Amino acid sequence: MTQLQRAREGTVTDEMERVAERERVAPEFVRRQVADGQAVIPANVEHGRLDPMIIGSEFATKVNANIGNSEEASGVEDELEKLHAAVHYGADTVMDLSTGGELNRIRAANVEHSPVPVGTVPIYEAVKRADAVADITPELLLDVIEKQARQGVDYMTIHAGVLMEHLPLTDGRKTGIVSRGGSILAQWMEENGMQNPLYAKFEDICEIFARFDVTFSLGDGLRPGCLADAGDDAQFAELETLGELTSIARDRGVQVMVEGPGHVPMDRISEQVERQQEVCDGAPFYVLGPLVTDVAPGYDHITSAIGATEAARAGAAMLCYVTPKEHLGLPDAEDVRDGLAAYRIAAHAADVANGREGARDWDDALSEARYDFDWERQFELALDPERARSYHDQTLPGDNYKEARFCSMCGVEFCSMRIDQDARDADGEMSEIETETDVEESPAAEVNRPPVGTHEVEGAPLADVDLDREYPSADD
Ligand code: SF4
Repeated sequence: MTQLQRAREGTVTDEMERVAERERVAPEFVRRQVADGQAVIPANVEHGRLDPMIIGSEFATKVNANIGNSEEASGVEDELEKLHAAVHYGADTVMDLSTGGELNRIRAANVEHSPVPVGTVPIYEAVKRADAVADITPELLLDVIEKQARQGVDYMTIHAGVLMEHLPLTDGRKTGIVSRGGSILAQWMEENGMQNPLYAKFEDICEIFARFDVTFSLGDGLRPGCLADAGDDAQFAELETLGELTSIARDRGVQVMVEGPGHVPMDRISEQVERQQEVCDGAPFYVLGPLVTDVAPGYDHITSAIGATEAARAGAAMLCYVTPKEHLGLPDAEDVRDGLAAYRIAAHAADVANGREGARDWDDALSEARYDFDWERQFELALDPERARSYHDQTLPGDNYKEARFCSMCGVEFCSMRIDQDARDADGEMSEIETETDVEESPAAEVNRPPVGTHEVEGAPLADVDLDREYPSADD
């Protein structure tokens, strides 16, 4: 039985217990959220190493990191390094979006070594296995989906909402169909003159998902690829279909979240979130960014983190990170780090602004260490401790500067916090400032307390990876 089915019958599963502990809420609250479809616990029964987590708007905002190779770059070793970087810097889930060689080895290695849920987009493998897009058959799609489910994939992007009748609605767009899955399915429908096979076979997919407890991530194949296309008829027609599919999947006991755009002007993000929540009956919304401007290739981790913060403020439950390489090239491990930092900031900022219990304690503790000139504690509490330390040490590397009452930004004479403290010490009108926040005692969810991710290399996925190990081939 799936988490959803067990929640409905009133059972608090081990996974729900663990999630409750990580979120610091009552297990019964977790069960009710899952039973109502307002939250999902992606936990394939075959994913042995998984540490369960939850995605839902009533829980701390989560961040997904996309990893995966392309035909042009990367193999198993590089991908495991990216998985390591992703978990190390705080990804709550990872998606293996590989489209190059060694798909099976990479996926098997990722699932085997990942403590966070692994998501995939099975149509990529179907494309690789068919001679041409038009040759993909519904049977091949189901075969790929079942094999990936057996491998332990926790959630899959299924672009079942792109229908033949939606395709003409994309005609007036500036950037057409930008979702890889959406464009592949559009080509398949155009060339075969038939309805989307993922839609036609949706109930068969539900049956496979129910067996392994794979969670749907209903893909937005017609998402806008630029600000000009945001919120057009094609996008919202697909959303209506995603609402119907959400209901069908839930009726069959399968957990569902729904994917969202992409590129949206800042002032229209909240209405997009509200519309998805209404159409999909509160199913968790998993958004890609969105980018709030199209003019900054090379900095799209920033343009999209702004949109992601706004989306999470409005109720999006999980943010799919964007790296600085977006639109330009395949991210490497350092890009994964930069993208995750941007998105952990977005998620945490939204959690603070949304008043999640204890979320601001982390900010308060770091601010107190900053005011105390406790540099070691500042580094320890930083979202990315290694970077904070290295930036500080670029100009003031000596150990003596770890107790200095200034840094090189303002210098000793103009350090405002030192000046403020000296003024308070002078027995005038101002009193001393107390520091008292204890993050260890904070009621905040795990993701809103330091450290982010797995800061110790020991225990991180790559630490015990046997890179010479053989993984199943496509035919296994
Ligand atoms: S020198 Fe400026 S930036 Fe550095 S600690 Fe003092 S006030 Fe902060």
